[in-house]
Amino acid sequence: MLTRRGFLAGGAALLGMPSIARAQICTPLFEGAAPDNLVPPTFDKLIRNAQRVIGVRPHRIGGFRLETEGPLTTPKGVKFIVHNYGHSGAGITLSWGCAAEVVEKVKELVADFEKLKIKPNIAVIGAGVIGLTSATELRNAFRTLPVTVYSDTWDLKKTTSYKAGGQFEPSMIYHQYNTNDERRRLLKRYVERSAARICWLQRTGEAASYGIAARRNFTLNEQAGFDFASMVVKVDHQKLPLTTLQGGGFEYRTWLINPQILLPKLAAQIPAKMRVTKRFRSREEIEALPHNIIINCTGFGAKALFEDRNLQPRRGHLILLRNPQKLRYFFSGGCGREDERVISYMFARQDDIVIGGTLRDASDGDSVTIEDDDKPIFDRMFSNIKMVFAGQSDQCRRLDTTS
Ligand SMILES: Cc1cc2nc3c(=O)[nH]c(=O)nc-3n(C[C@H](O)[C@H](O)[C@H](O)COP(=O)(O)OP(=O)(O)OC[C@H]3O[C@@H](n4cnc5c(N)ncnc54)[C@H](O)[C@@H]3O)c2cc1C
Repeated sequence: MLTRRGFLAGGAALLGMPSIARAQICTPLFEGAAPDNLVPPTFDKLIRNAQRVIGVRPHRIGGFRLETEGPLTTPKGVKFIVHNYGHSGAGITLSWGCAAEVVEKVKELVADFEKLKIKPNIAVIGAGVIGLTSATELRNAFRTLPVTVYSDTWDLKKTTSYKAGGQFEPSMIYHQYNTNDERRRLLKRYVERSAARICWLQRTGEAASYGIAARRNFTLNEQAGFDFASMVVKVDHQKLPLTTLQGGGFEYRTWLINPQILLPKLAAQIPAKMRVTKRFRSREEIEALPHNIIINCTGFGAKALFEDRNLQPRRGHLILLRNPQKLRYFFSGGCGREDERVISYMFARQDDIVIGGTLRDASDGDSVTIEDDDKPIFDRMFSNIKMVFAGQSDQCRRLDTTS
């Protein structure tokens, strides 16, 4: 079997240098930020112009796939595929951290090819948040190497990434890494590397242009979604400062990374001549590309392309409201009775408000079409968040049934 060591004919692999420096983690920067206006949304007025959307999270049993496959012997020569997909409900959060790891893997491969006097040639497949951050970090790291980005569409609005809420939190994927300390450390490493890029953007004054803003996140739960205390400041309140939220709860500080701002910003860094529209129907079509280092960032598309049975579609419903009150906070606690917690969240972004709550639904499939079965789910999500802000969170009802 051809191994990477064999491919190198015994040469020692060079250690890659991380392009996202192991910077100190900062906290979300509130200085100079607009006031967060701690009043509830005027739900009944806003619902009239609401938009409803469904996105499909690329959930992967065992955690996302970030590994190098190869060397692969193909009719077009020896190649490597670096897989970077399956980020479930946390792709926005993990994107820069995983892109930093991609850069390290590619640095090793580039060094290997150069030793063999083969010109490295990089392709990224996918123009969601994972593909675009991989491509832009690679361009930063390899100023002289071309990086071509392929996607079946360059209409960014069609990607799952564009539909995401944008909360910095390793939501859903967290449970895939919570099995032991080592795996937990692994996830922490990726999250912290993402945070390092955000901190750098804060320091250079560019964060806002990437859709990044600090947010106070209120929750009625005792636990935030994750507890990497090094970067998220937690405040324990006897009574939450939002007057309508009854009882005690927690506040933690995190970031909003608005994908509707982030994605166009990243895509603009890929020159038009390096963007190719192409739909791949098989792994063979990918291997037939003229590039010898291929970064696979096809999200849920990887299930069919690479026959990955661990990838599962997890539909998520979102209601988008306008934000005329200029609210600037998140709520992402649960509601419902202690024994039957329902997820309910509301993220106030720069210009709109996102309401969500479904992590998976009864019909979990990979369709983003709104069917008749989805309508009661949207209605219930909306009435649940209203209950929360009316101080009646104990009356929230489950979303995953139609009864
Ligand atoms: C409702 C909802 C809320 C979410 N909220 C958050 C949040 O608050 N915070 C957070 O961190 N994450 C959140 N997520 C998760 C996040 O959206 C995903 O983890 C992330 O978008 C995955 O990014 P991706 O680039 O891998 O996939 P995608 O955005 O789906 O991009 C895949 C790319 O590959 C291309 N592609 C696929 N197949 C092929 C093919 N065969 N040939 C050519 N091109 C192909 C696609 O066109 C696309 O360009 C949310 C997701 C949903 C659905």
